[in-house]
Amino acid sequence: MLKLGITGGIGSGKTTVCRLFELLGISVYYADEESKKLLDEDKEVKDKVVSVFGNSILNDAKFIDRKKLAVIVFNNKEELEKLNAILHPAVGQHFENWLKNQNSPYILKEAAILFESGAYKQVDKVLTVVAPLELKIQRTMKRDGLSKVEVERRIQLQLSDEEKVKRSDFAITNNEQELLIPQVLAIHRQLVDK
Ligand code: ATP
Repeated sequence: MLKLGITGGIGSGKTTVCRLFELLGISVYYADEESKKLLDEDKEVKDKVVSVFGNSILNDAKFIDRKKLAVIVFNNKEELEKLNAILHPAVGQHFENWLKNQNSPYILKEAAILFESGAYKQVDKVLTVVAPLELKIQRTMKRDGLSKVEVERRIQLQLSDEEKVKRSDFAITNNEQELLIPQVLAIHRQLVDK
């Protein structure tokens, strides 16, 4: 089964595009969402994270406080690398197990940092969703209640759109002018005709 990785910067519209593929019957693995779940539910992952970042990242209910963790890792690249070294192998394994239960013509794996994490090696083709910087900032500020500076800092930790597109097989432009559905359909047709 062909595995299509889908990536794009924060607020580019990856999830929005994935929902359109889902309407066409395509299964989507949301790696970022799954990694959040693993932090909550996988004891091994949680224990490793606490051993690296300390008990102060736990909330009163003894769950990992993702906001506290985000403040640490999005302000320091080395701390982010430490977190990723725990999360990426765990998500990779979870994805392999998920794959065994899928039977759509091809599947999508959504990840904001597909290239940066090395997860691109687990997929056959890559699609990047591209959006103008200003739109990405505005969408993310609105959705996550973050300041402009915080969003810009997170964007700086990711590869540029230009670099992502260079390394991709497909690109979709989500600039609120070009329609998304025809772009999704064109890629879907190419993949199911194969
Ligand atoms: P992240 O990596 O931050 O999770 P994402 O790339 O998955 O982001 P989405 O969650 O799909 O991005 O989109 C970010 C926000 O922008 C959402 O609130 C979404 O509803 C909105 N949005 C995305 N695309 C469009 C569009 N074409 N028109 C209007 N709103 C949009």
